[in-house]
Amino acid sequence: MSQNGVQASVKKGVTYNTILEAAQRPTPLVPLRKLKVEHQLQSDIYVKLEYLNVAGSLEDRTADKAFQFAEEIGVVRGDEVFVTAGGSTAISYATVAAVKGIKLTIYAPKGEFALVDTVLHTLGMPTVELPVATYSEARALTEEAAQQKGAFNLNKFTTNAAFVANLQKTACEIERAVNNKSIGKVGAVVIPLNTGAPAAGIAAYYKGTGDHGVRVVGVTCKKDTIPEMGLDLKNDLLQEYGVEKREVDEEEAYSFTRHLIGTEGIMAGPSSGAAVLEAIKLAKELPAGSTIVVVLQDGIRNYLRHFLDDDWIVANKKNVVTRKDGPQPNSTYDPKVLVYDPTKLAGEWTQDPETKAWSHSEVEFNQFNPERPLVLDTVLDAIGKTPLVKLQHVPKAHGVKCNVYVKCEYLNAGGSTKDRIAKRMVEIAEKTGKPGKLVPGVTLIEPTSGNTGIGLSLASAVRGYKCIITMPKKMSKEKAIAMASLGSTIIRTPNEAGFDSPHSHIGVALRLKSEIQDAVVLDQYCNPGNPLAHYEQTAEEIIYDMGDKHIDLVVLTAGTGGTVTGISRKIHERIPTAKVVGVDPHGSILAGPAETDIDFYEVEGIGYDFLPGTLDTSAIDYWAKSHDKESFLMARELIRTEGILCGGSSGCAVHYALEECKSLNLPEDANVVVLLPDGIRNYITKFLDDDWMNERHFLDA
Ligand code: PMP
Repeated sequence: MSQNGVQASVKKGVTYNTILEAAQRPTPLVPLRKLKVEHQLQSDIYVKLEYLNVAGSLEDRTADKAFQFAEEIGVVRGDEVFVTAGGSTAISYATVAAVKGIKLTIYAPKGEFALVDTVLHTLGMPTVELPVATYSEARALTEEAAQQKGAFNLNKFTTNAAFVANLQKTACEIERAVNNKSIGKVGAVVIPLNTGAPAAGIAAYYKGTGDHGVRVVGVTCKKDTIPEMGLDLKNDLLQEYGVEKREVDEEEAYSFTRHLIGTEGIMAGPSSGAAVLEAIKLAKELPAGSTIVVVLQDGIRNYLRHFLDDDWIVANKKNVVTRKDGPQPNSTYDPKVLVYDPTKLAGEWTQDPETKAWSHSEVEFNQFNPERPLVLDTVLDAIGKTPLVKLQHVPKAHGVKCNVYVKCEYLNAGGSTKDRIAKRMVEIAEKTGKPGKLVPGVTLIEPTSGNTGIGLSLASAVRGYKCIITMPKKMSKEKAIAMASLGSTIIRTPNEAGFDSPHSHIGVALRLKSEIQDAVVLDQYCNPGNPLAHYEQTAEEIIYDMGDKHIDLVVLTAGTGGTVTGISRKIHERIPTAKVVGVDPHGSILAGPAETDIDFYEVEGIGYDFLPGTLDTSAIDYWAKSHDKESFLMARELIRTEGILCGGSSGCAVHYALEECKSLNLPEDANVVVLLPDGIRNYITKFLDDDWMNERHFLDA
């Protein structure tokens, strides 16, 4: 209580009961600064990052609302429901259905599942591709099928849901930013059109508030060739609410979206890029000083084998300029450049014996700020503040009584927990010149299993550095295309090359550094920014969001060990009774010289054949050793039963967390926190794919 007796308002963090609750968080707005300069615009364009929604698109809002409407009239868990939807929209419906335990069957016209069938299959929702070309025909057939089978047809709610959800949420979130004076009064909202119901909902909001000065501009594609664009237009609705319509050319949209990703780090899908392209044209028509908000439909996830893949561009004869080859290492090199010790952290950590707080000899710590503003400076500020979600089904299904909370790091701007360290390492180098000076024109070179590479590619795109990533062949093509889309050069190295081989990802990075002028290896294995990002941020977020709930156990996978070291130090400092468990795969030696030799395993991003300097094994209470099969099966179970669209190492962390809960016999009121390092985007052709799983006997009983 304050002196005058008024309760001081102390903001507290939150945990969410399902991933859908976490979906209620507003998505941020980010200004396009470089494109403003490039196009000499006198107005500001902000993009709304709908791809950071929990299933990756604006349609998450619609799907959530449609099922709410259905529940209002009596649809319950276990019911059979049909819907007509393709692309990202289908993934949104399937994710909501997975969380709610609804048996959803998804119908769509021919070809509409092409980019999403694996994800829908992993979500456990059957799809029916109908032999028709249009959504109106598909809807009629869905209705027939629903009547025959006695299933509930969700289509009766989908238009209303899109309209209402965007009126209530998307438009209100934009106006909240205006009200907070974070952005100027909005002159126009630009949004890609598929059905157009979200655009109509946003237009209805402004009409209803009497704010007729706001133009709502919907964007479609000239020949309906961009995925999910203009295929299902409700022209009456657009007319009724005064939504203007503009058209873009398909190839121009692909080229521009690729440019948008590479210059601004906005990892958007092609319909979103098309909308930004039109927004730039509109900015030249509106009075100087106007504010335009572009609502992005979805992200790159569904398009890594589509317009972002140069092979696809060539095979489909699209008029889009493909990427040029970047620098490659010379075949001869001075062996002295390979003299390097990745086991030594740069600078010392010291601990105050009284307060137990840590400090670092070379780096000043950042203060923790739990708030994320509605309008960000750059997309790099959409890193961190990820939601902590309580698992509802998986622990019980595995005989675990206690509460298990998962931290959903796939909702970071670049899609993984490694975005945090990429940003922090770049920031430290910019401030201190360590381990190298970052000035415009510098080339960042980094050996990585991919996610640090994506984070650094993102930071390089935003900050204007060149970037070369060296990565073992084992890592997915999706990761490589994500990095290439952000403008980086990717060099693949043999899986079997040991870390000290000149041909390993580390060896090649060192060779390139010696060959390229003004090159810096930030070096995630030795850079204090790696554990520090997790000490300052990730762990603080966990403690803040857990609030009054005590933490008994924290379970983390380890690769560089930055995550486990940083989080463990903070947790032990603040909650001395909590235990921190590291998970290391069989075939790696992080948990100590192993009972098994160094060997191949499939889960990406974890384990090593050396002890990185960023790993402080003394910070970890004990280790679990993991297997591929259990890890992937658990990731698939989390996707199917909790709608948590996580990657393989996330499954690994959760599986071994549940094993710990069982072996410790943790009681009902115990709380366990598990970090999920990345999401499905990186693995659609890998563990999400039944064929890939079967080839490795991971689906054998
Ligand atoms: N999982 C994935 C998917 C990763 O990319 C990484 C980073 N290599 C990790 C887990 C482990 O994180 P850390 O390097 O901080 O130990």
